[in-house]
Amino acid sequence: MYVLYLDGSGSVRNPEESYFILAGVAIFERQIYHLIEKADVFVASLALGDSDDIELHGSAIANGRERPWKGLPRRERLRVVEESLRVLSEAHWSVKAFAVAVHKEARSPYDPVEYAFEEICNRFNLFLSRLFRTGGEKHRGLVVMDRSHYEETLQGLARDFRVRGTRWGKLRNLAEVPLFVDSRASRLVQIADLLAWATWRRYEHGDTRYFDRIASRFDKEGGVFHGLVHHRPPNEDCHCPACLSRARRDEPTARPPLVPVRS
Ligand SMILES: [Zn+2]
Repeated sequence: MYVLYLDGSGSVRNPEESYFILAGVAIFERQIYHLIEKADVFVASLALGDSDDIELHGSAIANGRERPWKGLPRRERLRVVEESLRVLSEAHWSVKAFAVAVHKEARSPYDPVEYAFEEICNRFNLFLSRLFRTGGEKHRGLVVMDRSHYEETLQGLARDFRVRGTRWGKLRNLAEVPLFVDSRASRLVQIADLLAWATWRRYEHGDTRYFDRIASRFDKEGGVFHGLVHHRPPNEDCHCPACLSRARRDEPTARPPLVPVRS
């Protein structure tokens, strides 16, 4: 079984912000313990108090308004975010990242959270299908996400996916409706939060400092970033890895042969 830990970044309602991001980390069941341990070791190395009380939450670390980040110099806090992303960038090769960046205005009147959730579930389902198609590995998938943000909206939506399917058909590889957990108790939801925040910085502010550290972890095949989706405004050029890799794939690969000119 693979578990997809999900979390979001960016405000849905704040009109000052353009993007909402939903991001997830897919982990094979036997790797879960190892990744949690790496994250715990990292938090303990910060020596900021009882590591069970310390939550890795991208925006909270960056803004430094709450303990234990309050009082730490900004440069130090941003270094903590960078270092914490190493838990993901140096994880076992089977750990894959997924993210959907939704330009809220471009998707209006659709709810960006629902839209991103349907898309990321589809991407996770396709990833599991590919494991079977290319390696004969049959895995079910389970989605785990933070209780506080989206439980009411998404619990019902996920049930609908199971019964009626999505825009792309039924998600046959997903085992259940999502499980909602308290992010304070789940290091792996916290890793998903850091991934979401790094991706949000990339799309909202063009700040690649954090995103570039984990870009290689997105699910991809044949050079196409299947694990990263960018819903951008129509007619806007974009050179992010998701848009670039799809543009290259869609280019005509075989040009018609030139007719030789006889002299
Ligand atoms: Zn793009």
